[in-house]
Amino acid sequence: MDGKAASLKGRTRFQGWLVLAVLTAAILATFFLLAWRDLTTRYAMAARQGHDTAWFISRNVAEKFRQYDRQLLAIVAEIQADAATSLTGEPVWHQILLTIQTTPFVRSIGLYDASGSVLQHSDRKGGFPAISVVDRDYFRQLKDDPGQGLLITKPFKSRVYDETIIGVARAVVDPDGRFAGVALIAVAPEAFDLLGGLPNLPGGSAISIHRSDGINLFRAPLIPDQLGKDLSGTELFTKRLPESPVGVAYTPNRGSVVDGQDRLLAYRALEEWPLVVVVGIRRAEIAATWRHDWTRNAVFVGLALIGFSWLATIAQRQTTGRLEAELTLSRRELQHRAIVEEELRRWATTDSLTGMSNRRHFLENCEREMQRALRYGRSMPVLIFDVDLFKTINDRFGHAVGDEALKIIANVAAACLRETDLLGRLGGEEFGVLLPETDTTGAADLAERLRAAIAVAPMTANGETVALSISVGVAMLHPDDTSVDALFARADEALYRAKHAGRNRVVLA
Ligand code: GH3
Ligand code: MG
Ligand code: MG
Repeated sequence: MDGKAASLKGRTRFQGWLVLAVLTAAILATFFLLAWRDLTTRYAMAARQGHDTAWFISRNVAEKFRQYDRQLLAIVAEIQADAATSLTGEPVWHQILLTIQTTPFVRSIGLYDASGSVLQHSDRKGGFPAISVVDRDYFRQLKDDPGQGLLITKPFKSRVYDETIIGVARAVVDPDGRFAGVALIAVAPEAFDLLGGLPNLPGGSAISIHRSDGINLFRAPLIPDQLGKDLSGTELFTKRLPESPVGVAYTPNRGSVVDGQDRLLAYRALEEWPLVVVVGIRRAEIAATWRHDWTRNAVFVGLALIGFSWLATIAQRQTTGRLEAELTLSRRELQHRAIVEEELRRWATTDSLTGMSNRRHFLENCEREMQRALRYGRSMPVLIFDVDLFKTINDRFGHAVGDEALKIIANVAAACLRETDLLGRLGGEEFGVLLPETDTTGAADLAERLRAAIAVAPMTANGETVALSISVGVAMLHPDDTSVDALFARADEALYRAKHAGRNRVVLA
């Protein structure tokens, strides 16, 4: 295979691979784009599910606090209606009992006087006067600002019984508006354990209820020592909530500050109460189903790509094979054509018997040489020689011997000439010679040498010697000559005279 064919084949193969590479890149790019978009969609769906859940829980939580506040207000109203007996009165005790019997998740109800002593307690009529809550935050806050309404405490351990509770408290004021004490409903944290009743959140999800200041009130699944934890420093409370009451946040990369899990957080601040509901869905859980689906997709795409490139390789191999075959064919064709053309050229310019120029080719060359000689003012002789009594040779020895004689004469003549001299068969047993840049003497000398050489050329036929001789007519180019015809006519005339003078001789025109 030659270089051109190899490079064509190489280029075809390169183009094939290029197309394959571009297609593969496009498919992979589309694949990753789709995968990325799908992941985004899944995050959006998870956020949506989180928000639905947060909404549902916030309604439930708001309703519970509304109920606790109604009960507190009823108790406070009862105290204030009976200023005489105030905190220890019988009607108040009944209100306490009614509340604890009818309100879900209420662990206990306590009434504290202005000094913090427990005057009434649902666990014991008459309270626990020896126990004081004067050091409690909620007590101080309500004492400082009795008009502040409902106060939700952070989770704390009861002094009456060994349990963690969340307090819902209001200040009691006397008819003069002075602080007279505190009424507190202690709610069991389980009141907010709504996870079990919720529709299928992904595994590892968590729900928490915070105070707006970041204090954790409850978390499901429950981690007891996390209750009351202050999360005010997290991004959710420092950035997201100030921006929008409902939204999405993420746990920092190291994961939740509570259990170390990395979660998407759908949060919702309650309108009615200073509370925030947060639903956390594990990012790993969102990514897991996505990864599972897209691993399967990747396997499909990978197999498709392998199959595709396999087919492409086969197609390419077939193409290059066909190309190669075509090239080989066309190469052979070219070689063949060159041979045919060479043959045609030889056939058109050469005399088939002697191998010398034929008449037409010889005269064309003479015409060209004549123009050149005329332009440069050079002398140019032509010779015409004719075999003497050739008819006799044919008659005596046969046509084949005649042909043989013609070949011998042509070869002997050619041997006498220079490379630049022209020799051609003009027809029959008549030949023409052109001698470029030769003067008359040179031409006469050569004509004589030619004649002499042929006169001694050895030829035998049927054991007999065949005597060969030629007569030669020489003519010089004349500046007035317009074509080779005139020149050859003069040479022909000289030849005619040579024949008449007895043959086997040279005559100059
Ligand atoms: P001269 O020229 O000396 O006057 O006599 P000649 O016998 O050669 O004269 P003429 O021109 O009459 O005869 C030429 C003969 O050459 C006639 C022809 O049959 C023969 N001849 C022409 N071409 C060929 C050829 O190619 N082969 C053979 N064998 N003979 C040829
Ligand atoms: Mg003749
Ligand atoms: Mg003759």
